Formats: sequence, C-alpha cells, structure tokens
Amino acid sequence: VKLTDLQPRWVRAGGEGTTDAAGAPVPERLGVGVSFECPCGCGGPRVYVQFSNPLDGGPPVADGDGHWARTGETFETLDLQPSIQRLRGCRWHGFVRNGEIVTV
Ligand SMILES: [Zn+2]
Repeated sequence: VKLTDLQPRWVRAGGEGTTDAAGAPVPERLGVGVSFECPCGCGGPRVYVQFSNPLDGGPPVADGDGHWARTGETFETLDLQPSIQRLRGCRWHGFVRNGEIVTV
C-alpha cells in the first residue's frame, strides 16, 4: 500500500498560543514528523513518528518515543529508518520505503 492511501499528514509543533513550561512562546515548527492511518486497517489511532531531521531544517522535537531518520520531502518519496513498531493495540510493524508501506 502507498503512504498516500493512508491520509498522511505532516505534523506541526509549537506556534501561536503554545508556551513552554516557563510561559515563553514556542515558535511554530513545520514537518517535525508524519502521521498516517494504521496500515493494518485496524482503524485504531493514527501512526505518528517524529523525525530526527525535520522538514523545516530545525532540531528534532523532544519526546520520549524516539526519532526516525527521514529521507525524501514528499509523501510519495518518504523513507524512514528504522522500522516502525506499534507498541499497543494491533502492534503493526513495518517500514516506510520510498513512499510505500512494507509490513513485516
Ligand atoms: Zn493497526
């Protein structure tokens, strides 16, 4: 299945109305990760992965779930390393390879 068949969306962070723990505004970030419908068809929560190299050229957004190395700047060419493993629910495991979903 192609990534483009799974309603993919780039993920933003920060921006208007967002403040850090000290109350300072957090600048808007674009393309810090990608989300898409679960490839297994379970209808569960969207898969969300954060990039170690966001599309906007800024540093990765800190989070406890790790980061994936991104190649490609469109959904048609996106490639992520390493594989993605859902830790809850359906436990889908697979790759995003040059815009294609490869379930393992
Ligand atoms: Zn699933």
